[in-house]
Amino acid sequence: MPKIFHFQQDNSDGGRAMIDTLGNKGAHLCEMSNMSIPVPPGFVVPVDYCLDFYQNNKTIVDSVKNDIRLAIKKLENTTGKQFGGVENPLLVSVRSGSRFSMPGMMDTVLNVGLTKENMASVARSVTHQNNNASIAEWFALDLYRRFFEMYSSVVLGISSYLFEEIVASVRTLHNINHSQDLSIPHLEQIIDLYSGLLKANSVTIPSDPYEQLFATLEGVFLSWTNRRAQIYREIHNIPQNYGTAVNIQSMVFGNSGTNSATGVVFSRNPMTGDKHPFGEYLINAQGEDVVSGVKTPHHIWLNRDKTLDMSVKFGECTNQLMDILRRLEVHYKSVQDVEFTIENGKLWILQTRSAKKSAMAMVKIACDMFTEGLLTKQEAINSVDATMIQALLHPSIVSSETYKKIATGIPVSPGVAIGAVVFSAERAESMFKRGTSVILVREETSPEDISGMHAAVGILTAKGGATSHAAVVARGMGKSCVSGCDLLMIDVVNKQMSVGEEIIREGDVISIDGNTGDVILGSVDLSMPEFTSELKTMIQWCLEEKKIAVRANAETAKDASVALDFGANGIGLCRTEHMFFNQNRIHTFRRVILHPDGAESKDLLALLEREQYDDFVSLFQIAQSLPINIRLLDPPLHEFLPSDNDVEFFANFDQNLANDIKYRLKQLKETNPMLGHRGIRLGVTWPAIYEMQIRAIFQAYLYTIKSGINPNLEIMLPLVNDEKELLFFKDVIESIKIKFEEENSLKIQYKLGIMIETPRACILADKLSPHVDYFSFGTNDLTQAVWALSRDDAVKFWPSYQMKKIINFDPFVNIDVTGVGYMMSLAISKGLQANPKLIVGVCGEHGGDPKSIVFFKSIGVHYVSCSPYRIPASIIISGQGVAPKRL
Ligand code: ADP
Ligand code: MG
Ligand code: MG
Repeated sequence: MPKIFHFQQDNSDGGRAMIDTLGNKGAHLCEMSNMSIPVPPGFVVPVDYCLDFYQNNKTIVDSVKNDIRLAIKKLENTTGKQFGGVENPLLVSVRSGSRFSMPGMMDTVLNVGLTKENMASVARSVTHQNNNASIAEWFALDLYRRFFEMYSSVVLGISSYLFEEIVASVRTLHNINHSQDLSIPHLEQIIDLYSGLLKANSVTIPSDPYEQLFATLEGVFLSWTNRRAQIYREIHNIPQNYGTAVNIQSMVFGNSGTNSATGVVFSRNPMTGDKHPFGEYLINAQGEDVVSGVKTPHHIWLNRDKTLDMSVKFGECTNQLMDILRRLEVHYKSVQDVEFTIENGKLWILQTRSAKKSAMAMVKIACDMFTEGLLTKQEAINSVDATMIQALLHPSIVSSETYKKIATGIPVSPGVAIGAVVFSAERAESMFKRGTSVILVREETSPEDISGMHAAVGILTAKGGATSHAAVVARGMGKSCVSGCDLLMIDVVNKQMSVGEEIIREGDVISIDGNTGDVILGSVDLSMPEFTSELKTMIQWCLEEKKIAVRANAETAKDASVALDFGANGIGLCRTEHMFFNQNRIHTFRRVILHPDGAESKDLLALLEREQYDDFVSLFQIAQSLPINIRLLDPPLHEFLPSDNDVEFFANFDQNLANDIKYRLKQLKETNPMLGHRGIRLGVTWPAIYEMQIRAIFQAYLYTIKSGINPNLEIMLPLVNDEKELLFFKDVIESIKIKFEEENSLKIQYKLGIMIETPRACILADKLSPHVDYFSFGTNDLTQAVWALSRDDAVKFWPSYQMKKIINFDPFVNIDVTGVGYMMSLAISKGLQANPKLIVGVCGEHGGDPKSIVFFKSIGVHYVSCSPYRIPASIIISGQGVAPKRL
């Protein structure tokens, strides 16, 4: 067995480099001890013990118990106290902590070692300065109540809800608002009721401290595999087999009277990124009181009522806390999220970790830390989580007199959410599955709500502040959240809430604004936001440091200009068929399809040519000298005809037309359209359509040149499989080009490219590449072909693969690195062998998926192309990491 790692004032056996062994919490407790930050002494039971526990049929073997006994002995020496003793008792917390921060998902038990026999002396030893017997007695009972609750729920498996009910019943009986205001007799009554509950369940809390400790340790190990932790790991893609370390640490008591407190503080504001530390605290409270929202805490600084600021009562501690925050931030080069406790006027730090920040704060802080010299430019870029950038494109509410604002809470995670109100996590999940956007409304959220929060578009709570569970989790998920909205009266049983006279029932739509805290009845209109100056700077930096270029998929002038405004490096995919979908043109194109060889077809194509010409001119004007990659017609023709149902509609006014369409639909019907008559195959069968497109492109090109802009034109052929197929069309394009050049006495410069979207094209890449300037991977079709998996049908059965954990990702969302990725690498290396100047791009959906982009960078792809609103996040990724093998 590996050793146990001790930490005490000024030194420890471990440090931040050992996160894999000690977990996040443990590694940083060690690190802080080494930095002489006041951390209550303790030790870390490394992750291997947890893995061992699971291997030994979930039992703690004797040798492990021995290790723990020895470690406790050492802790007794360090603290000069006796574990669970009556005279000078040492109590410990037993805290979970894996290598990934999973806030609140696993269990922690505080005050282990507390017994009926020693609770009075624990209280006396902590509160002796106060010399106040009743405070000590209250404190002893409060400790005991807390220990009872935590031990019973974590170790004995009794739902914490039952304890909450007991407290609630006593509070109601005596008309008391907060648990903190319970008096000694109330606490005694509660403890009696608790004992009754245990008796009814035939379980007891052992009075031997070591028995308590081992049972707790077991409970904490087991919490690694509790349901919510597993769900959290699934959502965040954390492996299920890492296990957790356990931190056993001497207790400090923030609930030992009014000279004590507990709190949570961020070294900078995690919402706005403001440089001032930001935190909340509660006097005379312990552990989770601040986070769980049992009582809305005060700000440490910045209260409207200045007398509530922490410095008023705890001046010295507040200064010391400021200083520690500054040191930690410089040390870790990232904003820290710190738990602290003040016991009788002395400050203790209990945890530090990198803070979860709102997207806006994240970008601002990265820029600020560069300016302050804390981060290099590349470090600043790398510190941004690109998946959260989407949140910055969150629309904001267009203000209107007619909106009915019903309440205002604390805005704790930005963005506007509009959805149907639900009052339970289960309901959120089931309605989400039916496609409804929901807003989860809770008194306060707890880790049990995690899957419901995941399903919701926004979260609204009646209690809790900016460091509450709801706030932290929502920010991590990039979801809008308003908390501490204390006007809400939530009635879970009847599935409704009320605000004053207003009653809102399950399913009613509300809007919440995570930027202002507003709660509005009904849905609101939204407008797109402006980029903050920091985001502009960050994007600029990423463009300077880019390791892969980012282009846009765009056909319309509007999409193209949005994308270029966002910083796109040109158009990576212009799908010409989208240009046929507009109301007038679709008719014209349908008539072509109905009679491709008919006499009128020529005229119709000429009409379309004129229209496409206009489209291309406007795109060239927007793109200026940036590259613009135009793909010739791709989808099977039946996609342009009305569906069978719609044909009946035509029949109402033109029976002949309806018959024509029916006949043609029958002709065009294919068993596997995606494997059928599409892409360059259409060009081969009906060259007239492709020729029309090429003419329109060249004419637009010539017009644009004459107007003084040099378009950076690229023409791309879809679904190419074979060299001859490619050469057939290359000739067509060239001969049209020569004709236009002669007519206009102007040279036409264009690059020719092909889409690589079949396994055959990958395998024969070296035969294809000498004839073209670029490849563009159509990763949707390539995935479809490599897996023999239809994207349109996969949705029906793919979830089974994910549920049964056979394949735990969707290859149409995240690129399949080992299969499709292998094909791509093969095509790139073969393609480059035969044509070293070959440029490689990706234009499938994966081009906007952060994970996939990281992979594309690693295999030397030059650019990705994605839809306009994914551009900013993709640009951020493009700037991150180290330089790729080839550029
Ligand atoms: P989580 O990972 O859920 O935050 P923690 O292990 O950090 O769980 O503990 C839960 C709460 O108990 C935190 O507020 C923490 O600060 C507090 N706590 C943990 N250990 C101690 C201790 N030794 N003394 C006082 N409070 C503690
Ligand atoms: Mg914690
Ligand atoms: Mg395709």
